[in-house]
Amino acid sequence: MNTLQQNFYAVQSLIKQAEKVADREESSVTLLAVSKKQSSDKIAEMYALGQRNFGENYLQEALMKQQQLADCAINWHFIGPIQSNKTKSIAENFNWVHSVDRLKIAKRLSAQRPAHLPPLNICLQVNISDEHTKSGVLLANLSSLVTEVLGLKNICLRGVMAIPKPRLDYELQRQPYRKLHQAVLRLNVPTIDTFSFGMTGDLKAAIVEGATMVRIGTALFGQRL
Ligand SMILES: *Cc1c(COP(=O)(O)O)cnc(C)c1O
Repeated sequence: MNTLQQNFYAVQSLIKQAEKVADREESSVTLLAVSKKQSSDKIAEMYALGQRNFGENYLQEALMKQQQLADCAINWHFIGPIQSNKTKSIAENFNWVHSVDRLKIAKRLSAQRPAHLPPLNICLQVNISDEHTKSGVLLANLSSLVTEVLGLKNICLRGVMAIPKPRLDYELQRQPYRKLHQAVLRLNVPTIDTFSFGMTGDLKAAIVEGATMVRIGTALFGQRL
């Protein structure tokens, strides 16, 4: 087995263990392989192992890889910050966007989603530990953003994404995810089935608190270029 294979099986086994600890169904958590600054060759290799969901942060880089990997049936997820002038290309070339944090961006993605494609799956990025990052809607403003986004025709609101402040303590890792998970369940939106929670360092805490998609980069691919 080469390193990429070892990493892939190791991450899958961590997810499986966490599903057990959380008393969650096996395969209820989807692995999103974060491939930013990783080569198309590595993506192709991971694809050959059965991986189908890949996350990219930089539009130009992602478009180049999509061309190189056009023969692969990959679900492409955009997970990076979004500038308004990039929405058209994102709407045209991705299956999912995890980093929508304001109405203006959601409106543009909906308006620019090509008619021949299914609605674009989106997650709203929530700023759950306020000081850490400027991206993300504050929890206090989530409910009104959800209401507005639900009125948009060509996007499907699938859930939320969060990147809490990194913590080493397991209980502290769980807190923000629990709070957000509960808040979202209270909104009671029928199309919401996705909690894009958890990275390498807090995978177990995220899964115990309801993650359905974990975003893992370097633990799968190794150091970025
Ligand atoms: C880069 C990135 C990841 C993965 O980070 P790693 O440290 O490589 O595992 C996950 N989520 C988002 C939003 C990212 O930008």
